[in-house]
Amino acid sequence: MGDFQRGDEDVIRFHDFQVDVQTYAQRGKQNDFPLLKRCPHCQAKRPLYRHGYYERNAVTSHQSYRIWIARYRCPECRRTVAVLPSFLLPYFQYTLPTIWRVVKERLGLTPKRGMEEAPLPYPSSLAV
Ligand SMILES: [Zn+2]
Repeated sequence: MGDFQRGDEDVIRFHDFQVDVQTYAQRGKQNDFPLLKRCPHCQAKRPLYRHGYYERNAVTSHQSYRIWIARYRCPECRRTVAVLPSFLLPYFQYTLPTIWRVVKERLGLTPKRGMEEAPLPYPSSLAV
């Protein structure tokens, strides 16, 4: 933990890269990173420029990946934005489907043998 406590004030912007964690990890810095046209700090309508990358973990129930996160900087206010793939949650190393499965298990919502099956009022996917 503490991946995001780096002493700066990155704003986190989620982006759907249309790939899963494995593909994202394989592509590394060649992912299709979005263009940020507006600064979330000062609202300046000037494109943010790319400001490098940092590495973090993405852990599924099967495997652990090291993935690259792109950072951007605003030319006006000089503050930074990190673009995270939407399969991640900030402060968690685990991908969303993995977290979701663990939460359901903890809550006893995963049907087990011998237990009666309760209806699951949960969506099949989670919007961030
Ligand atoms: Zn700005």
